[in-house]
Amino acid sequence: MTIVQELAVTEDLTVRDALERLDANAIGILLLIDLDGRFRRTITDGDLRRYLLGGAELGTPISKLPPIEACTVRESDPAEIAFDLMRKHGLRHVPVLDELGKAVDLRLRTEYEQPILLSIPHMSELEQEYVARAFDSNWVAPLGPNVDGFEREMAAYLEVDHAAALVSGTAALHLALINFDVGPGDIVFCSSLTFVASANPIVYQGGTPVFVDSAPGSWNMSASSLELAFDEIRRQKKMPKAVIVVNLYGHSADYDRLQEICGHFDVPIIEDAAESLGATYKGRKSGSFGEMATLSFNGNKIITTSGGGMLVSNNAPDIEKARWLSTQAKDEANYYLHSVVGYNYRLSNILAGIGRGQLKVLPDRVAARRSVYSNYRSGLGDLDQIEWIDELPESRATHWLSVILLRHGSNLTPDTLIARLASYGVEARRVWNPMHRQPLFASADYYSAENGSVSDDLFERGVCLPSSSSLSDEEQAKIISVIRKIVTAAR
Ligand SMILES: *Cc1c(COP(=O)(O)O)cnc(C)c1O
Repeated sequence: MTIVQELAVTEDLTVRDALERLDANAIGILLLIDLDGRFRRTITDGDLRRYLLGGAELGTPISKLPPIEACTVRESDPAEIAFDLMRKHGLRHVPVLDELGKAVDLRLRTEYEQPILLSIPHMSELEQEYVARAFDSNWVAPLGPNVDGFEREMAAYLEVDHAAALVSGTAALHLALINFDVGPGDIVFCSSLTFVASANPIVYQGGTPVFVDSAPGSWNMSASSLELAFDEIRRQKKMPKAVIVVNLYGHSADYDRLQEICGHFDVPIIEDAAESLGATYKGRKSGSFGEMATLSFNGNKIITTSGGGMLVSNNAPDIEKARWLSTQAKDEANYYLHSVVGYNYRLSNILAGIGRGQLKVLPDRVAARRSVYSNYRSGLGDLDQIEWIDELPESRATHWLSVILLRHGSNLTPDTLIARLASYGVEARRVWNPMHRQPLFASADYYSAENGSVSDDLFERGVCLPSSSSLSDEEQAKIISVIRKIVTAAR
């Protein structure tokens, strides 16, 4: 179906049907077409609302909508003409007509504007200095002073003792599981609401993931669901080798109870802090709670090395061993000698240089993302269709991604909101699809809250909004006004 076929309506349509058609399309307009196929006018939500206020009813046909002089262009017009019209009249779209006056296409303003993306890298000027130093000294590869410096500086920032710089957060999780001796058939508990990278390394090791639900307040692992999982596993006379607790969207999980439970069963926590670097929980840095914690410097994270990760711990031999495994596990000898399987997981000295520069500006990046979130909240907080996540007490979230929930019973679904935002050149995304819903993990066990799965509910209602630390005030104002428009138009 062409965009014109999708949006075209005829005048016998009722207001109710027109509203439904508007709800179902991403662009937010309809094109009213004559019986002989000629374009008559565009119809927006606002037009229909005014029509209703003027006395029309839901069953009234749209034929009596007052005529307007719609801006259109001809097929032969250069593209800039449409853009000039949109700028001059503040329009989002201009229909393209053929010689007979039939609509053949629609020019969208987003075709001309830079889209606002969800979460993009934000370099300072410091990264280039570290990278240049690596070039000047020919420490391009493999290891070198930037790798050591990045590890030392990150450990100092997190107030942990040791860190190993790796090629990705996924690699860090994999080495953490190897460290806790996860092998074929071993059970590992893992937050269900997360990115697939949290759980994949369990499968690399031949382990069996068992997923645990979220708590409604923090979105992170629910202590009561974790207890349920432990009780059930104990009844089966088994124990997990580790529990992967994920800190989502820049919020730390609630470790007081999680640590108590895992401590009781003597099972280590692997803290997946890929999304929470810079956050704190009760005064301590996120990434310092697990027996081991993992970080990611992927391109969308709060700081990035374009790709990279880190494994941190207070246990020196464990980190030393992870470094050794990450560089192919060479035994002590004057020749190539190997007794265990190794990996090529070490971060390069160039990328570590980017990381050192990024780490210097981490506090600024945290402040900027927090400010984006608080601007959304003050700009949209009065809309009762939207719910927000609060910080845990005595804790600070980074709001790596600003996430909203559409209230139960809202006419707006996440998919519709995301599609509408896209028509304004604003990228938004669904919340992570929980692991227990993935075909990949169809046979895995899942422990949810007794009165319904929280993570399913968050997935069904959650939307991640653009959250880059480089978002300008104008961009934030645009996003807020567009969301207001979309949410208030959805009845
Ligand atoms: C990004 C992310 C990862 C993976 O990190 P990579 O560096 O991309 O491998 C793991 N867990 C979570 C929760 C993430 O968001």
